[in-house]
Amino acid sequence: MNILSAFIINIALYSVFPLYLTTVKPKSRATAFYIYISVVLVLGSLLGSIYSFKLTDNIIISGGSIAFGAFMMSITMLLIIERNVSVLSNIMKLVLLVNTLTYLSFKLYSWLLDSDLILNHLNISTNIFQTSLSVLLIGGGLIFVELLFLLFLFIQVRKFIFNISFLSIIYTCAFILILCLDGLLFPLFAIGYDENLGHIIIGNVTGKLILALSYSLPMLLFYWLFKRHLVRFLKSPIQLQNLMTAPRKKLLEELHKYEMQDQKLRQTNLELLQQSTHDSLTSLANRRKFDQTLNIEWKRCERCEKPLTLVIGDIDFFKQYNDHYGHLKGDHCLKAIAILWGNCFSRPADLAARIGGEEFAMILPETFAAACVDEITLFLEKLKIENIPHEKSSVANYVSLSIGIASVIPNKNASENDLIELADKNLYQAKEQGRNRIIYSNN
Ligand code: GH3
Ligand code: MG
Ligand code: MG
Repeated sequence: MNILSAFIINIALYSVFPLYLTTVKPKSRATAFYIYISVVLVLGSLLGSIYSFKLTDNIIISGGSIAFGAFMMSITMLLIIERNVSVLSNIMKLVLLVNTLTYLSFKLYSWLLDSDLILNHLNISTNIFQTSLSVLLIGGGLIFVELLFLLFLFIQVRKFIFNISFLSIIYTCAFILILCLDGLLFPLFAIGYDENLGHIIIGNVTGKLILALSYSLPMLLFYWLFKRHLVRFLKSPIQLQNLMTAPRKKLLEELHKYEMQDQKLRQTNLELLQQSTHDSLTSLANRRKFDQTLNIEWKRCERCEKPLTLVIGDIDFFKQYNDHYGHLKGDHCLKAIAILWGNCFSRPADLAARIGGEEFAMILPETFAAACVDEITLFLEKLKIENIPHEKSSVANYVSLSIGIASVIPNKNASENDLIELADKNLYQAKEQGRNRIIYSNN
């Protein structure tokens, strides 16, 4: 294996995890990212003095730099996914915490390794744990400035570019720019004046450019695989000034506001769904829901070769009822009948619907017509007991219904319209034979 392959494997190893973490459930995703970022931060402090890849005579990339690249890449992904400036303040707290822990524990390890208080079985050099407080502070400060600048670029760019593929490329270029900027600023602040400074900066910027180009591939893969996050980022109200002006309380208030809006929206959707499938007067399923259900049940019963029964009921002399008692009373009458109609059957697959002005229907899957006649007869008896007066009916002195029932075992040569026709035909016969009765047939 050559150096380049080993270098690529190292980059790939750091890239696989944030890509995988993007697929974690939203509830725990940010936490998983913060843990990964902390681990990479500690690894970076440790690996800086352990190994380096000498890609050319002038380009040397340390294990610490590779971890730094992974750190910046993971934060960039997290910013896009979370679409919230609080990611930046969380990262800064994390950097402060992890760097304090690293500094104090590394100091302790170097002192212990130097002392004769412990056994150093592997002869580990104290150099591994050499840290400089000023370097840690400068590094932490630069991270903050660079991330702020990166987010600023992201927010500015999305004002002008709406094409997601193009935006992915520009965002990747901004990421490369930020890493190169780090290559320039870090030696400038950490080393200060040195006669070789120019030389060091050129080597550092070149190294960071190669590093950034290497990480730009997983970044592009991220934008391509999780395009939806970039689309949401494009539409999000994220603003840099929120970092300064939006304290925790305000952010929580905003979050609460969004949650309330979301809840209201879900409630409205539920109501709309109810309206689109139910009749507003009687609350039974409406014609649309009836048609959908009949179609679904027809196919289901056809697959499992089970019978499907359709019941259609029509109020007798309802025009006369309306003319005599008025439309409002007519509505009350429809509601009262709907309650009895809806209570006839209670299996989950049964559906009671109002399919026309004074027409009701019932879909009874896996049932033969003969098997439901008793229940429908009981319905007519309950209606008689309910005794809604109907002086103008020629068949009874209360409101009655004529009912047609048909049942078939669905097959490819017929359709649900044939079943409707059969039930209608039986209803017509019930009307013909004197109303207030049931006619049924099994086909
Ligand atoms: P038949 O016994 O042959 O079924 O005669 P019918 O009078 O019941 O049937 P027809 O189709 O002639 O009249 C149906 C009436 O139902 C007409 C209309 O006034 C009434 N109707 C339809 N929808 C509503 C509604 O939503 N509310 C009220 N109050 N009446 C309605
Ligand atoms: Mg009618
Ligand atoms: Mg009628």
